[in-house]
Amino acid sequence: MSEKLWKEAQTHFVGGVNSPVRAFKGVGGEPFFVQRARGSHLWDVDANEYVDYVGSWGPMILGHAHPRVVQAVMDAAREGTSFGIPNPHEIRLAQLVKAAFPSIEKVRFTSSGTEATMSAIRLARGFTKRDKILKFDGCYHGHGDSLLVKAGSGGATFGVPDSAGVPSALAQLTHTIPFNDFVALESIFKSQGKELAAVIIEPIPANAGLFLPKTGFLEKLRELTQQHGVVLIFDEVISGFRVAAGGAQEIYGIKPDLTTLGKIIGGGLPVGAFGGRAEIMDCLAPLGSVYQAGTLSGNPLAMAAGIATLTELGVGGRMGEWGNGGMGAMERGRPREPKQDAKALYNKLDARTEKLATGIGEAAKKAKIPVMQNRIGSIFCTFFTDKPIANYDDAKSCDKGRYAKFFHGMLERGFYFAPSQFEVGFVSLAHTEADIAATIEAAGEVFANL
Ligand SMILES: *Cc1c(COP(=O)(O)O)cnc(C)c1O
Repeated sequence: MSEKLWKEAQTHFVGGVNSPVRAFKGVGGEPFFVQRARGSHLWDVDANEYVDYVGSWGPMILGHAHPRVVQAVMDAAREGTSFGIPNPHEIRLAQLVKAAFPSIEKVRFTSSGTEATMSAIRLARGFTKRDKILKFDGCYHGHGDSLLVKAGSGGATFGVPDSAGVPSALAQLTHTIPFNDFVALESIFKSQGKELAAVIIEPIPANAGLFLPKTGFLEKLRELTQQHGVVLIFDEVISGFRVAAGGAQEIYGIKPDLTTLGKIIGGGLPVGAFGGRAEIMDCLAPLGSVYQAGTLSGNPLAMAAGIATLTELGVGGRMGEWGNGGMGAMERGRPREPKQDAKALYNKLDARTEKLATGIGEAAKKAKIPVMQNRIGSIFCTFFTDKPIANYDDAKSCDKGRYAKFFHGMLERGFYFAPSQFEVGFVSLAHTEADIAATIEAAGEVFANL
């Protein structure tokens, strides 16, 4: 059945897909078609069952089809699916986001992470009245024109577009340097600091495999941006509500000027958000002169899914206002306390993922397959290399062929890992000890045959 659908899909969609990585180009073979998903498991149209470590690329931190999220979406849908005028769900989700992210004074919801980053860049340019931006090699910020740019290797260079169709005149305004490179960072600020509108960074890069910031790197960036009047944008579309409720900025104790969010805050529906210092945000229309809009922005179904997800994560526990009764409870004026403590849930995710990563590492060692595992909280990446991975160039040096074999070996055994060495794995609260144990056992078999 999947095979047949895949054939037909090619006649409708470019390369058979509506988003490129789904085509399995990074590992070869053909993708499967999902029929349904529940908890940590997926079922394809041929009734094959998989333990899912992709989690829709990040949003599904509670697992698939969480009953509270499904209920919240159904309840919202019954009241109407889109209004195009303010609705109270927007306020509740904003409260939850702001409770977790103290750096966000004002927020705007969008329908995707791409819109959030693209709009944050425009806003930073409007606020600073400067045009240039800086990003880091291997950081993905959605597919806005200014952000589809990486440098060639070796220090700061003018941007060369990564994609056809991006005008070189625009790409030249995007500088890129390697992540974790203190020297390149100092140097670009020395030469360009006064002309940069913004620096955008994934504080925990998770779109080129996974690597972590070296001690002091984000601090240095905060210091330099402050000195030069540059807007610091943390792209926490993945890390927000994933590594901690308050994202990477909570873990590293750094306050960016703007933050972009997505994925988890939509609970599996299309949502993005950007927010931060009120002084900057107020430059947006209708108060200011930076235009940004969206027909479905603040969509009630998407807001409801986000509210249910964040509430299940224990976010806003200290607020003690409407609680996890959602809008219904608010309307009935019956405040309820969320039942979960966020910290405890994130600790549980961390412990479970550590068990998985350690198990995979030991299985690889036993089979004498060199792997390097990077992990933070419930994000993990198994690199096929014996060298530590601290930036994009390191990640690119991994054995992608071996990763592809690992991927297919796991998939055959019913474990769906990301179909590319440059994507990460996600563990959800629905992954059980039994899931983890079975995964480690299967990995052992696969490593033995690599
Ligand atoms: C996924 C992602 C985006 C883009 O979000 P979309 O909803 O896919 O447009 C932006 N930044 C980061 C860090 C992401 O992981």
